[in-house]
Amino acid sequence: MLQQIRVRGDAETHVDAYLTEWRSALKSFGKPLPCLTCFLKGAIQHLNHLDDEKGVGKVRCTRCLKYLYL
Ligand SMILES: [Zn+2]
Repeated sequence: MLQQIRVRGDAETHVDAYLTEWRSALKSFGKPLPCLTCFLKGAIQHLNHLDDEKGVGKVRCTRCLKYLYL
């Protein structure tokens, strides 16, 4: 996950803000994780958890439909 963010590292302040949002979501039980792609475009969209595949957690954004692997 962090590697995906670094690869995109075009807007570091946005990435910092995103990580803050991500950590806050991890701490709050039941709070959905934000989508990185949409966040960088200025919208907080929430990722849906999908079934684990081979032990890898996969989530999909409800807006841009991109998959992220945790
Ligand atoms: Zn998205």
